[in-house]
Order: sequence, then C-alpha cells, then structure tokens
Amino acid sequence: MRSVYMDHSATTPVKPEVVEAMLPYFTEIYGNASSVHAFGREARKGVMSARNTIAEYIGASVDELFFTAGGTESDNWAIRGVAHANKQKGNHIITTTIEHHAVLHVCEMLEKEGFEVTYLKTDADGLISLKDLEAAIQPSTILISIMAVNNEIGTIQPIEEIGQIAKKHGVLFHTDAVQALGKIELDVNKQNIDLMSFSAHKLYGPKGIGALYVRKGTRIKNLMDGGAQEKKRRPGTENVPGIIGFGKAVELAAEGFEENNARLIRLRDKMIAGIEATIPYIRLNGHRTKRHPGNVNFCFEFIEGESLLLSLDLVGIAASSGSACTSGSLDPSHVLMAIGLTHEIAHGSLRLSLGEFTTDEDVDYVIEQLKPIVERLRSYSPLYEKATGGTR
Ligand SMILES: *Cc1c(COP(=O)(O)O)cnc(C)c1O
Repeated sequence: MRSVYMDHSATTPVKPEVVEAMLPYFTEIYGNASSVHAFGREARKGVMSARNTIAEYIGASVDELFFTAGGTESDNWAIRGVAHANKQKGNHIITTTIEHHAVLHVCEMLEKEGFEVTYLKTDADGLISLKDLEAAIQPSTILISIMAVNNEIGTIQPIEEIGQIAKKHGVLFHTDAVQALGKIELDVNKQNIDLMSFSAHKLYGPKGIGALYVRKGTRIKNLMDGGAQEKKRRPGTENVPGIIGFGKAVELAAEGFEENNARLIRLRDKMIAGIEATIPYIRLNGHRTKRHPGNVNFCFEFIEGESLLLSLDLVGIAASSGSACTSGSLDPSHVLMAIGLTHEIAHGSLRLSLGEFTTDEDVDYVIEQLKPIVERLRSYSPLYEKATGGTR
C-alpha cells in the first residue's frame, strides 16, 4: 500500500543533509560548547556558525538570536518574559483568538496574574483587522503577539503592517513564526519585529530545538535560572547537534526558497481544486491565496473529522483533524470556532499539509481516495440523506 504523509504542519522528516551535518556532533565533536578546551572550541564554532546562518536569514545580528528547546519555549519566553519585565509600564497585551496554545495558554496564565489581554477576532478567512488592532492599543499596552502563519488553516497575517502599527505606538511586537520560517519572507527590520519564535522540526530539522529572536535593547526576563549560556539569557548546556541541524535546515530552506515554495503552491492548489471538483458540501478553511504554501484545510459537512482520519489512515494517508495537540479532546479546534464555524461543521475538518517530498502522485492518490471515503461516511448520516432529499 502507498504511504502518503500529509501532516507536515505537525512535524517534518529530518532531511538527510541535516542528519549528516549533525552526526559528527554526537560522536566526534561532543565537547560542551562552554568548555575552554579544543573539544569545547570545536562545538562552539559549530554553534556560532549555525547562529550566524539563522540570524542572517532573518536580517538579525548574531547577538539577537537565542537557542531554546523549540517553539513552545520561545513563545512562553517571549510573552511571559516581556510581560514580567515591563509590568511598571503597563499590564495590557494584545493577541488573537487563533494563536497556538503556546501563546494562548500563556496569556490565560498572565490574566490570572492580573494582566489584561485583548484577543482580537479574525474574519471568516482567519485574517485580523488592522483597524481593530490599532483601536485595541491603550497607553498600558506593552506587547502585541500575533502569529505570522496559522498552523491549522494556513492564513498569513499582514505582519509588516502589524509591525508598523506596533512601532508607531511604541509597543513591542512578537510573532510566532514557527510555520512561517522558510515559507514566507521574514526580515526583522523591514517588518519591525521585536521578538520572533522558531522551531526546527517544522522545517526539516530535529525536534526539541528552536530559537527566539530578541531585538537588542528589548526588556525581557529570563524564563529559567542557571548557567551563563546564551549570553546569560537562556541557561542549560547547548543542544549542539540540534543547533547544527537547525542551522543546516535553515541553510537548505534559504537555498531552495523560491523553487520549493512555487512547487508547493502548485501542488496545494492542485489538491484544493481536485477536492473541490469531486466532493460537494465542503468549505475551504483559511484564506485562499494569503496561505501557507503547503496547507490544505477543508470542512466536510455531515462527517466527523476523526472517522475521516481513521479511514484515510487505513489507505496509508496521514493527515490531521483540528490540531495534533488537541486531538483526544472532544472540543472542536479553537481556530475553526474562532473563524465562525459551528461545532457541527468544525467537527468535520481535515488538514492535509504538504511538504517538500510530496509528489504529484501523492496528491492524485489523496484526491482519488478521499471521494469514496467521504461518500461512504456520509451514507451513514441521516442529516445528509435529509439534505440531499434521499436521492443518494
Ligand atoms: C508547532 C508549533 C509550535 C510549537 O513548537 P514546538 O517546537 O513543537 O514546541 C508553536 N507555534 C506554532 C504556530 C506551531 O505550529
């Protein structure tokens, strides 16, 4: 049976070149990057080179990039760290209803501590309104945290315009760019970004390594106490192989940026068109063009997303419904609810996220398999029978 991985927004395979770059750092160059001896110096050299690659790619300087254990830590650090360091200035934070839980749950914790949080609503495509954003800014606003690209529905926010508004009002701007890195252009100066979160495993790098960009001069508290690593900002022995892998993944993403994304967009749009042409009673979630190059997300009326996933799994197709982090709970995705879908419709959602190794044959296979599965599942639904007048 064919095996087709359509869940790249959950995680990506590690590219062979990335593994190859990492291997020596497990076995030969295993020194602690903080040690003074030759083993340590070699490891440190690798870390510096990776930091340089990533910083350069986003237009930052090397002393503004701090390695973390991934996107979740970077989001936690950015929001909690800025909130706690700027308490005297104000207690108001602006974010959106469609953020990743690594942002939303931190904001909820801060509310319990006395911070005030405005959760901006989006339109039906998942786009925030710049007018609403500007209207929400108060003298006590210390931080705007808005994701660059949504992980469920793929919608791309106007981060350059958001950055301009933040700058005009003297408010710090954090963006969760975990899904954006390598997929859309990111430039901390052009886009007026003060803090930006990354994760390597969404970009064909290893899991458990990420980074936070922090603009020079930004007031931010540390999340943890410990050693003097990362300029005394983020303690803990550096994950050297992870950092090397992250650097290599970014290098490859930079090299292939235009070609890979043009190819992904072509396959994405072929998938969307193929599904729309063969299956009725569906809704494309997310903006049709301001969209992650590999994201396809549909709601199928009269169907449970979970049954759809299981049926797809039986024919070798790996996809997701809602977000991977919330599977197991019965609540529909908070993102689909936030864009105004009903519980019923939101429950029938399917995210197919394509990646650099996805082929035309993979896309054809999914389109071909999906139609009979959807028809079979719908045939069990009394509502479907009613809606179609029992003619099917
Ligand atoms: C995956 C993801 C995260 C979490 O990153 P981890 O490295 O898995 O902790 C945060 N934000 C977004 C948008 C993501 O897609």
